Amino acid sequence: MIHSWQTGLFTRLASRRQSLPHALLLHGRAGLGKTDFAMALAQSLLCDAPLENGEACGQCPACGWFAAGNHPDFRWVSLQEEDATDEDVASDAKGKKPPTQIGVDAIRALSGFMTTSTHRQGMRIVVIAPADALNVNAANALLKTLEEPLPGTLMMLVSDEPGRLPATIRSRCQNVRFDLPPAAEAEAWLSRAGVEQASLFLALAGGAPLEAQRLATQDAGLRPALLRMLSNPEASLVQLSEQAIKMATPEWIGWLQRWAHDLVEQKLVGQIRYHLDFTEALGRMAQKADLFDLLSWERQLREARRLAQHPLNARLFAESLLLPVLAMR
Ligand SMILES: [Zn+2]
Repeated sequence: MIHSWQTGLFTRLASRRQSLPHALLLHGRAGLGKTDFAMALAQSLLCDAPLENGEACGQCPACGWFAAGNHPDFRWVSLQEEDATDEDVASDAKGKKPPTQIGVDAIRALSGFMTTSTHRQGMRIVVIAPADALNVNAANALLKTLEEPLPGTLMMLVSDEPGRLPATIRSRCQNVRFDLPPAAEAEAWLSRAGVEQASLFLALAGGAPLEAQRLATQDAGLRPALLRMLSNPEASLVQLSEQAIKMATPEWIGWLQRWAHDLVEQKLVGQIRYHLDFTEALGRMAQKADLFDLLSWERQLREARRLAQHPLNARLFAESLLLPVLAMR
């Protein structure tokens, strides 16, 4: 699917079908539709009769196979489930780790595909998303492929955090950067998609339309409930943490990070960026909060988000991250 803010970029790349490099790195923040774009470009490059604007026709046999997920000259590599090791079982009784990386087997599995001739005498295309989830061995295996590019083959790596990819891989790809669309365009798109309070959710998503749409769909009152408690001196630490852990860990930490960021910005420049529906409470708390404490809370939250996928004791973990708020109310 090509989103309205991507059409210019899409036409530019699709019109270069004869002269594309052998590897593209599609990068930019989450929620801009990079993977959708990669899939649309792949379909277009494999299509038997692409339209004038470069889009796939959607009618030919190649488009049919692509839509059904079985085009013989296309591979899609993504996160895979892994069996948990003994060490992990204690923290996750289900015995399966949630997929967090792309292992070497997924890249090795491409080798047969890469070396046999294409089925349809056209291009051969691989999309790897999220490419920053490649583990070390997988990245090394991929590097070999990138070092000896095969004619007619296009690898598309998609990443929200290209800095996590080895420099050796980045240097072998041509960069395609996805920027935030203008706010007015993004808001119009969200309204068409049926999102109410489009400007609020766009702000919460830092300007990324698909992320805004996701937040609007999953919001369900949990965010405002937590934020009302944050700013209410009557709410206890226990109540706060119980409210927080009704959400997934990265989710509630993300709201607190935005809250902390807003407090810092309110203190320094008198305005906020994210929680536009809590302007008054943020203004009040920013007056009471100490800037040094705020910055150290921001750092604490950043580290917690990076490290804690599955805290052993979710409530204690939440309490430790929420404690600094009590002094700001
Ligand atoms: Zn087609």
